[in-house]
Amino acid sequence: MFDTHCHINFNHYKNDADEVVARARDANVQMIVVGAQYSTSKRAVEVAHLYGEGVWAAVGLHPTHLFDMRYEGDSEDEGYDTRKEEFDYSAYKSLAKDEKTVAIGEMGVDYFHMPEGVDSVDVKLKQRELFIRGINLAQEVGKPLIVHTRPSTREARDAYDDTLSVLYDTGFANCVMHSFSGSKELARAFLNHGCMLSFTGVVTFKNAKDLQEVAKYVPLDRIMLETDAPYLTPDPYRGQRNEPAHVRYVANKIAELKGISTEEVIKITDKNAKAFFNLR
Ligand SMILES: [Zn+2]
Repeated sequence: MFDTHCHINFNHYKNDADEVVARARDANVQMIVVGAQYSTSKRAVEVAHLYGEGVWAAVGLHPTHLFDMRYEGDSEDEGYDTRKEEFDYSAYKSLAKDEKTVAIGEMGVDYFHMPEGVDSVDVKLKQRELFIRGINLAQEVGKPLIVHTRPSTREARDAYDDTLSVLYDTGFANCVMHSFSGSKELARAFLNHGCMLSFTGVVTFKNAKDLQEVAKYVPLDRIMLETDAPYLTPDPYRGQRNEPAHVRYVANKIAELKGISTEEVIKITDKNAKAFFNLR
């Protein structure tokens, strides 16, 4: 089974990454370790080499790292301060060309975490430019893109609409909408464009009825599983630090929603991940 998006390269695992990876291996879970800025992208590549089999990397600059700001996080995340980073295309390109790097990302747009004292029009424009640079890099190295999209509020679709607009304008579709949490209508738009959608532990939450309907709607051959660890911990571990081994709970929930076995979900989503990330 694949956890197609986790951050065991983050400080949250600095004391016990070995055990976290060992538990994933015991649970037969392979993983893509995703960077969010240059330091964590470089670390993702190092972690992939360190652990070797069943561990790969993705490298990119998350839109919230474009400005100096306080990242408040979700109710169950810890916040952190982020220093602004310019996207150094050639530095990311050398990480992107590494044999263990299987994708660019996570990159995209985030209107939930906006810096103070900067005009939101400018912020959105800069985020759009960065997103397009990520697409350019993905195209240049011939690897897929992991897209982060977060609207200004839970109900808003602003960031999704702008993501679609960039994808339409560039004609780029070799991407996965990571931790998808938009409506069924938006899911349809991304599917029609040719994107994959991935689901996290959020789908297991009791108050996530709308997202569960979306997961039921999306064809299994367009779905990938992820944890986004250390965040978005599934039930029954909600509130604790997440880890790749917990991706099984996402698989169980998708199986329950679709009325099929967990084995079937694992079989198809494994196939999807191998094809999407070009894993041998
Ligand atoms: Zn992430």
